[in-house]
Amino acid sequence: MGHNVTLIRGDGIGPEVAEATRRVVNATGVKIDWDIQDAGVDVHAREGTPLPERVKESMKRNKVCLKAPITTPVGTGFRSVNVELRKLFDLYACLRPCRTYQGVRSRYDKIDLVIVRENTEDLYAGIEFKRDTPEAARIIEVIKELSPGAKIREHAGISIKPISVEGARRIVEFAFDFAEKNGRKKVTAVHKANIMKFTDGLFLEVAREVATKHPKIEFEDRIVDNMCMQLVQYPERYDVLVLPNLYGDIISDLCAGLIGGLGVAPGANIGLNGAMFEAVHGSAPKYANQNKVNPTALILSGALMLEYLGEKLAADRVQKACAAVIADGKDVTYDMRTAGDSRKPVGTKEMADAIIARL
Ligand code: NAD
Repeated sequence: MGHNVTLIRGDGIGPEVAEATRRVVNATGVKIDWDIQDAGVDVHAREGTPLPERVKESMKRNKVCLKAPITTPVGTGFRSVNVELRKLFDLYACLRPCRTYQGVRSRYDKIDLVIVRENTEDLYAGIEFKRDTPEAARIIEVIKELSPGAKIREHAGISIKPISVEGARRIVEFAFDFAEKNGRKKVTAVHKANIMKFTDGLFLEVAREVATKHPKIEFEDRIVDNMCMQLVQYPERYDVLVLPNLYGDIISDLCAGLIGGLGVAPGANIGLNGAMFEAVHGSAPKYANQNKVNPTALILSGALMLEYLGEKLAADRVQKACAAVIADGKDVTYDMRTAGDSRKPVGTKEMADAIIARL
């Protein structure tokens, strides 16, 4: 019997990278019954919601989803479908492995980092109050009452940053479990506890407590601004990083930059009752429908999915095929061309063809 998987093709470059990934995963011979469900900007225009019930129902049924990127309007418009799906299915752990592939355009080699980002709390909890509304005015009043010294002006928009003991504990435990199961040596907790004592301070306190239960794994912590500099200067000193939601988001892109760009950065969102696999990159609307962008990040996310489904051999084959095509350097997309390389880049579809041929 095959595995049932929901496939969300997304918008922008989504459908192109989704199709490339589906073809590669199918080519491994692992039997997948794809339940194709569309969501995002175009669906919003057609159905009045970017995330119809049928998509959620499909995810509830199948428990495993491969998702291509979906556009989120900036400032106004609907809230992020990506964030909603992660919250709805309590996919609390976002796992983003970052390693350099030979042949990728990067100033660094031998980077092998894993980012474990908390996915449900922090400033991403979606608790926001628009400026000049009665709700924002009430919150400002309460803040003035409870914290008389607080400098909060009128006409302020307000976002709330909740970080709980339970939320912090389960993500740090996930990071240590991952480290133990995957032969990793060290976990670094990242925070800004010197400034945000009751949220990031709590995260750090819980991380220290969890670390004592895993004596075989080294533990340390870094303040997030220092972490950014350290990663740029000495990425080889780090192994598994565990972070609250917002820092995890930002550091993920920083690390994608270290390994040669968003085109090769995969990701997984994992909870107790299901998982959703997606690239770190977004929908890059300016490149939509051009058969131009790199499909590798979503294909590598597909490999993470195969591993999650217990198909380790197929997952390894996909990873090795991607690595071989990148190292070969012939059939790669525009973002993988180094300056001075006069070879013409190939398109999304052709790069996927090359990966399939290498399988
Ligand atoms: P983006 O990741 O879509 O694109 C930024 C730039 O990175 C692109 O212009 C392109 O130069 C490069 N890039 C991205 N993916 C690439 C690929 N596969 N191959 C080659 N180059 C690639 O980021 P953005 O422009 O900030 O966001 C666009 C939209 O995507 C926004 O609406 C945002 O909210 C959304 N987004 C969605 C997700 C998701 O679905 N999980 C994640 C991030 C952003």
